[in-house]
Amino acid sequence: MAGASVKVAVRVRPFNSREMGRNAKCVIQMQGNTTCISNPKQPKDGAKNFTFDYSYWSHTTADDPCFASQKQVYKDIGEEMLLHAFEGYNVCIFAYGQTGGGKSYTMMGKQEPGQEGIIPQLCEDLFQRTGDNTDPDLTYSVEVSYMEIYCERVRDLLNPKSQGTLRVREHPILGPYVEDLSKLAVTGFSDIHDLMDAGNKARTVAATNMNETSSRSHAVFTIVFTQKRRDQMTSLDTEKVSKISLVDLAGSERADSSGAKGTRLKEGANINKSLTTLGKVISALAEMQSNKKRKGDFIPYRDSVLTWLLKENLGGNSRTAMIAALSPADINYEETLSTLRYADRAK
Ligand code: ADP
Repeated sequence: MAGASVKVAVRVRPFNSREMGRNAKCVIQMQGNTTCISNPKQPKDGAKNFTFDYSYWSHTTADDPCFASQKQVYKDIGEEMLLHAFEGYNVCIFAYGQTGGGKSYTMMGKQEPGQEGIIPQLCEDLFQRTGDNTDPDLTYSVEVSYMEIYCERVRDLLNPKSQGTLRVREHPILGPYVEDLSKLAVTGFSDIHDLMDAGNKARTVAATNMNETSSRSHAVFTIVFTQKRRDQMTSLDTEKVSKISLVDLAGSERADSSGAKGTRLKEGANINKSLTTLGKVISALAEMQSNKKRKGDFIPYRDSVLTWLLKENLGGNSRTAMIAALSPADINYEETLSTLRYADRAK
């Protein structure tokens, strides 16, 4: 959508071995930026089309026009958001979708050449650009934090000693924040790389019937990027601070489809609540952008910890992108359709 503040992409991953083992059929087709899903029970007339900013295909051969490498996804979405951050905007990139859909692959990727996801590519690009600066009056600083939101509680992933949950507070000017969350100054990509590695090991993962290491928490990696400019005449500094939030959301599958009980069911309810709130916030902001809503209309940031903490990255002076990760297989049809509908509402 031209000029809109929310950019929406969908990305389908290749079949996994479980799907291949079950002889799954592909229900997704892509052409240009349109994604078509066909209903395996009504292959003739059950197809639905959705149009997004990007529709990314991951066929094993790269000659399909919709095929998107990790590099391409970064170029289209990550780089654009990074450039907005250089302009002084707050930015936010979300990966949404069912567990196993490809969220972590898109955000983090793998530590193999060409397989790095948006986060490592964006960090590397950030330091490349700041390193290229030859203006003596311009200086940069970069601080990072990494937290996990699990059942509406926040944990610091960069401080292994902080076992408990942290308090969410509100600053009268700067807005919501997490008290005592570690913010570490970094001067190069390798610092970030090591921190993320440690943080990822600390993430809460619990087995469900869907996936052995399915992630039931949202992981929020934040880069606070400060550009300081000295005015030679007055010797005064002006600062431009941008917050870049990169979010790997918890799996969007409904609790009942993974046979969840007890704690799992409660986790599911919390996840659903924050994902539903996120959807409402994003579509309210998109409506505001297209002038269907007026400024000051109610946006339900406070209804979940995730949206409350991302308030400054979603509303106002910010740019948002969402990538919905999809399975291609007929056996995941219902979840994939609901992911496409969620992404469609964010436009
Ligand atoms: P999620 O984070 O949504 O649970 P993952 O990112 O872990 O899912 O993806 C599940 C599996 O599929 C991983 O083995 C991952 O490497 C693979 N995968 C996901 N997306 C792609 C893609 N676009 N291309 C190739 N492999 C992918």
